[in-house]
Amino acid sequence: MAAPVRIIFLGGLGEIGRNCMVVEQNDRLLIIDCGLMFPNADMHGIDLVLPDFTWLRANSDRIEACVATHGHEDHVGGLQFLLRELSFPIYGSPLTLGLARNRIEEAGLLGKTEFVNIVDNERRKIGPFDVEFIPVTHSVPQAHAIALHTPQGVIVHSGDFKIDLTPVDDRRTDLARLGALAAGDGIRLLMLDSTNAEERGSAPSERTVGVVLRQLFAEHKSQRIITASFASHIHRVQQIAEAAIDAGRVVATLGRSMNNNMRLARDLGLLKLPDKSIVDIEEIDDYPPEKVCVISTGSQGEPMAALSLLARGESKFVKVGPQDTVIFSSHAIPGNEGNVNRVIDGLLRAGAEVVHSGIADVHATGHAQAEDLKTYLSITEPEWFVPIHGEYHHMVANAHLARVMGVPQSRIVLCEDGDVIEITDDGIERTDRVPAGMLYVDGIVGDVGQGVLRDRKVLSEEGVVVVVVTVDVAAGKVLVGPEVITRGWVYAPEAEDLIDEACLAVSKAVEHALSNGTRDVDALEKEVRRAAGKFVSERTKRRPMIVPIVMEM
Ligand SMILES: [Zn+2]
Ligand SMILES: [Zn+2]
Repeated sequence: MAAPVRIIFLGGLGEIGRNCMVVEQNDRLLIIDCGLMFPNADMHGIDLVLPDFTWLRANSDRIEACVATHGHEDHVGGLQFLLRELSFPIYGSPLTLGLARNRIEEAGLLGKTEFVNIVDNERRKIGPFDVEFIPVTHSVPQAHAIALHTPQGVIVHSGDFKIDLTPVDDRRTDLARLGALAAGDGIRLLMLDSTNAEERGSAPSERTVGVVLRQLFAEHKSQRIITASFASHIHRVQQIAEAAIDAGRVVATLGRSMNNNMRLARDLGLLKLPDKSIVDIEEIDDYPPEKVCVISTGSQGEPMAALSLLARGESKFVKVGPQDTVIFSSHAIPGNEGNVNRVIDGLLRAGAEVVHSGIADVHATGHAQAEDLKTYLSITEPEWFVPIHGEYHHMVANAHLARVMGVPQSRIVLCEDGDVIEITDDGIERTDRVPAGMLYVDGIVGDVGQGVLRDRKVLSEEGVVVVVVTVDVAAGKVLVGPEVITRGWVYAPEAEDLIDEACLAVSKAVEHALSNGTRDVDALEKEVRRAAGKFVSERTKRRPMIVPIVMEM
């Protein structure tokens, strides 16, 4: 009997974001990716969401390393938090590590880790793990799939990928190597990216965007052009810059992450642009508008990003107006549509023309679509299948594709965050559950729980009513108040009568309790909450947060 291998899913199975899993072999642990997730609209005041680190913390002495598939924040953005508590080396491509490094350095945690560069198709031993890094095409360069050669056979983690036969850097997803693995000992388990499993057909090549961009530059010869895209999408930036330079423009970058990433990518030789065509954003007014292209961050409408400031007329560097065409070379991540539309409205009001993916094909996805996934399945012919990276419906759609491609239903395991699977000679089984709740970050990690979020939801939707009453406990009578202070319940100056009535209702309840012999402050506060809550609900049909404060004299 070969030794079992276990996989612990900590994030990314059930949501888009915070991708994180752990492979356990010979009692040692290998983390694959540790990402963050951006909050949705009902996570009030939350900056970002992380995987639950409870299990990793409890098993910290067994962690061998982390391997990072690529440099997107949903895959490496959690490392700067995990490294506050733990210490381990990180393996990945130079760009993946360069992108991860920025945040880890900002957090002052470089001493907690070591960055180990790997090259395409490298196979290396990391403790007991035999790890192979297979090149894949994605919306950030130098991304990898991971093949683990384990006592239980080859386990393939697809990473985020697309099948683009003409990628900008000619670095294709290495289907030949995957096929060789399948034809060799076979692939025991495939864990496959589900993001676009519901999208029919195949993902278009990134190069198709370059063609559209060139057309747009030709059609807007007399305009200044401002583009917005993800700062890590180096190939998109390359295509924008090439279109601009070929049209006789200089290029300037706007936004801190765009500046950082362009410098990083140029240092690594991944972004090839002539120095003379790149100017500082402060110098663009030295050129006529039609000779300038600004490459900006903020394509998701992030309120503090460069493009939002520009749309609000608050940018120090660029004043947007009728001379401008703004191209959103991106697609709004679900949840960001509102913010993106606000930015578009701001730009239009300022007189600019706006081109987005609803108007022209100025964006191509970085994830394989249904037909691509089928191709991948037909090449890898996995014995077992676990869909990963997606909301539940994405993973179900991916499982369906696997079935269509001949993986028997009994060998498809639908897992969610917190599930543990064990791979033995007999097959794969879900064996355990570990903590995998959301870890909410607001400023400093760890102090925001479900309770705090529930409070914030009530406060934001219903407001708060604070009732203060001072009692003489010994004498059993009310000395001062009740006084009602409210925010977000009713507009106080116009609701004086209502507030007076509320005071009366609470006053009666407190006096009643006191006359019944209640002397305990906690019990009196409960009485205040009950009376105020009943009054508020009956008279206004609202449920604000009620905060009772009983003071003793
Ligand atoms: Zn991802
Ligand atoms: Zn990605």
